[in-house]
Amino acid sequence: MSERIFISPAKYVQGKNAIEKIGDYLKDIGSQTVVIADETVWDIAGHKVVDALKKKNIASEEILFNGEASNEEIKRISKEAKGAGATIVVGVGGGKTLDTSKAIADELDAYTVIVPTAASADAPTSALSVVYSDEGVFESYRFYNHNPNLILLDSHVISEAPPRLLTSGIADAMATWIEARAVINFGGSNQAGGTTTIAAKAIAEKCEETLFRYGHLAYESAKAKVVTPALEEIIEANTLLSGLGFESGGLAAAHAIHNGFTALDGEIHHLTHGEKVAFGTLAQLALEKHSLEEMERYIGFYISLDLPVTLEDIKLKDATREDIMKVAEAAIVDGETIHNGFNVTADEVADAIFAADQYSKAYKEKYK
Ligand SMILES: [Zn+2]
Repeated sequence: MSERIFISPAKYVQGKNAIEKIGDYLKDIGSQTVVIADETVWDIAGHKVVDALKKKNIASEEILFNGEASNEEIKRISKEAKGAGATIVVGVGGGKTLDTSKAIADELDAYTVIVPTAASADAPTSALSVVYSDEGVFESYRFYNHNPNLILLDSHVISEAPPRLLTSGIADAMATWIEARAVINFGGSNQAGGTTTIAAKAIAEKCEETLFRYGHLAYESAKAKVVTPALEEIIEANTLLSGLGFESGGLAAAHAIHNGFTALDGEIHHLTHGEKVAFGTLAQLALEKHSLEEMERYIGFYISLDLPVTLEDIKLKDATREDIMKVAEAAIVDGETIHNGFNVTADEVADAIFAADQYSKAYKEKYK
């Protein structure tokens, strides 16, 4: 029997215009930061971060991220950051910028600050990064010995992000309880290498409850680009609840199937992480035994948020059994998270993918 393990970031801050206060949280930590953002994010939030730090006499080395969380990019920026003598690494932006920033902070053994500009996935709070090849194919997870020191979300900045990013985050967060539940039932291990605690289970369950309750209103708020109580609830669910929930709760089939999809060429690469996870989650549900009512509750929720539910929706309308077997084989390789919750063959995973597609098509036919 392995130990119960729960890990989390040291501090989480969320609120309207929270970036303006970032210097308050760092003034006693250090005086030289490296701030990493891509071209778009520099205009949206990067300069605001640098200005707020300057007000507290904290200097920033400004770095332009090239867009891919690859080993090459991690090496390149680490060198620049070391040269600047940074003791604080501030990553500003989306998943890949933040994953890269964590790796750089690890290389420098620096204080890690994560400033997501969208609530689009649950990676920000975690002590791991997903590393991709320069071509964007999933390569590996990189684990760190601690979670980020500070996560800071400015709800105003997030309200201005494309609504599709928010629904992608909702889809990623929807996988949290479904995967943690599979890990708990199977007796598998969580992403921290232990058994799931009561705390992580409660957080993962609360995550799903919050999404069903406020997901739609938050989506509408994002369309109107306004900060509302519903949006605040979903920012927390997508980021904090889903982040703690997946890491200390555990990942299972949904994310392994997502990773399998990244092995395919073609238009599927234009989908967000969360959008692919949405379909992976339906495939995991199809792998398990659920009633029609349960399946329809999930499918209906995704459709109402304009999330993909069929193979056609994820640009794989003409996928052959052979193509899907490739995805399934990739989903069950050694070390994949599917083994935390399931004892399955590639053939069974492929069946579940086609089943999920068919269940969603039947739903669309029934309620059109
Ligand atoms: Zn995810």
